[in-house]
Amino acid sequence: MISLVGQELALLLNNELLKEGDQFKVATGVTPTLAVVLVGDDPASLTYVTSKGRASKRLGFNHHTLHLPETTSEGELLALLDKLNGDAEVDGILVQLPLPLHIDELRVIQRIDPIKDVDGLHPINMGLLLLGEPRLVPCTPLAILHLLEHYQISTVGKNVVIVGRSNIVGKPLGALLSQKGRDGTVTLCHSRTADLKSHTLAADILVAAIGVPHFIRGDMVKEGAVVIDVGINRVTDLNHKRGYRLVGDVEWESVAQKASAITPVPGGVGPLTIAMLMKNTLMAATLHYSRRNKFV
Ligand code: NAP
Repeated sequence: MISLVGQELALLLNNELLKEGDQFKVATGVTPTLAVVLVGDDPASLTYVTSKGRASKRLGFNHHTLHLPETTSEGELLALLDKLNGDAEVDGILVQLPLPLHIDELRVIQRIDPIKDVDGLHPINMGLLLLGEPRLVPCTPLAILHLLEHYQISTVGKNVVIVGRSNIVGKPLGALLSQKGRDGTVTLCHSRTADLKSHTLAADILVAAIGVPHFIRGDMVKEGAVVIDVGINRVTDLNHKRGYRLVGDVEWESVAQKASAITPVPGGVGPLTIAMLMKNTLMAATLHYSRRNKFV
């Protein structure tokens, strides 16, 4: 059984991005700049935003975290996005999800300038992806593509079963893996899927993006399957100094006995996702520079 170690790939990718970022700076005089907007104090979101800031710093990108109170109105958030859209110094904008319930997520995502949309969630970027012309693509699906390519795991003609149909993971990943060239036969499962186990057992490649600790067990996995665990769940662990530890959606012990390859949690898809955010930031900076200089 091979462990698909995203952490190591993230280091390699970051080294490449460091070089590409420096070349971009020399060629344009521009330092890629990412603005991350966080509304409220959700502890997991705070951790993710801090990691994104650290990643930007490591690559020498400018980073602004705009931390707004939980009580921020939708109008105030949209006004901030208008300001960031119009700011010539800002190349990439990310609004950390989830947002407080009184704010309409889709309205917020639609307000981000599509060429600054480093999460790839704007309808224009989603539409381009679906049409087979991907531009800024959601970071977790990009991370999974990178893992599969690096470990030379072909998806051609394979049964790819994705459990979870979120806009940020399941749906874009399904669209990418079923496109010509990748040629996976994709099944997208969700909480209303009947007899889920019959689907997961048919998977050559099984992706778990559910948000339920240890949901996928060994008896749900075909012998020799490749298993990608997207889940990042906090479970109480008083032996840990933080009082919790991170576990995936896959029960490692039982699944590792059946799978031919599996991503660990932590250290699998998560670190690569952040590296992909940096890749998208550099792409957004390139698009922004081209637009300012009327190349596009
Ligand atoms: P989400 O928006 O909550 O979506 C969860 C999906 O799982 C939904 O489609 C839901 O079905 C489905 N689901 C829930 N219970 C199910 C069940 N019993 N049987 C079958 N399907 C079920 O979550 P998300 O944002 O995609 O995140 C999923 C997990 O990945 C979380 O642990 C999150 O922290 C993690 N994550 C990790 C990364 C990374 O970089 N590694 C990035 C993003 C997310 P319905 O649609 O029917 O409700």
